[in-house]
Amino acid sequence: MTKDVSVSCTCGKVKGVIHGLSAASSNHVQCPCKGCQSYAHYLGRAADMLDEAGYSNIFQIDPVTFEIKEGLEHLACVRMTPKGPLRWYTDCCKTPLGNTLPKGGVPFLGVLPICTGYKGTDQAVVEMVGPVRAVANEKRPQTLAEKLKVWGMLAHLMRLLLWWRIRGGKSWKPFFDKDTLRPIRKPITISKAESKALAEKVV
Ligand SMILES: [Zn+2]
Ligand SMILES: [Zn+2]
Repeated sequence: MTKDVSVSCTCGKVKGVIHGLSAASSNHVQCPCKGCQSYAHYLGRAADMLDEAGYSNIFQIDPVTFEIKEGLEHLACVRMTPKGPLRWYTDCCKTPLGNTLPKGGVPFLGVLPICTGYKGTDQAVVEMVGPVRAVANEKRPQTLAEKLKVWGMLAHLMRLLLWWRIRGGKSWKPFFDKDTLRPIRKPITISKAESKALAEKVV
């Protein structure tokens, strides 16, 4: 069953909707990586974005289904490392929206659930996008059962990516320019000093 889900930044200036969300049309994962953790601290939203172990819940969707209806002027974007993903958020109240690849083209958006009004660990998120399929980017040794979950999750994601590409072609909405596929905001880069200060908060 799919559902249209409202999106809002915390202060309400940016509003939007995710169309046709369901467990089948999304990929719910957890990410323990340093980039996701320092991003949460960069925004000052660790309590809203990270669980007790420092993991971020993220659900990956076709970006064309993520519509920004109001407050596009508050959209900002940062890269925690020079080669890291583009992390899109609102500069009015530092609400994360989602992460994309550096250029448009590949239809891929990893949404941070707090923009739907829920923390990643809330049961409401499971109701929207199903349970966590696996932990992505896990560095610690994994059991065979955990590895199997990752492979299952990756197979699901590959099927989705293929379908999104076939259905929509080259992706650009809502974060990239249609013709150049470049981001519609210049990504902020983190200074070495800032990066070091953030790294100290990472677990
Ligand atoms: Zn806001
Ligand atoms: Zn991550």
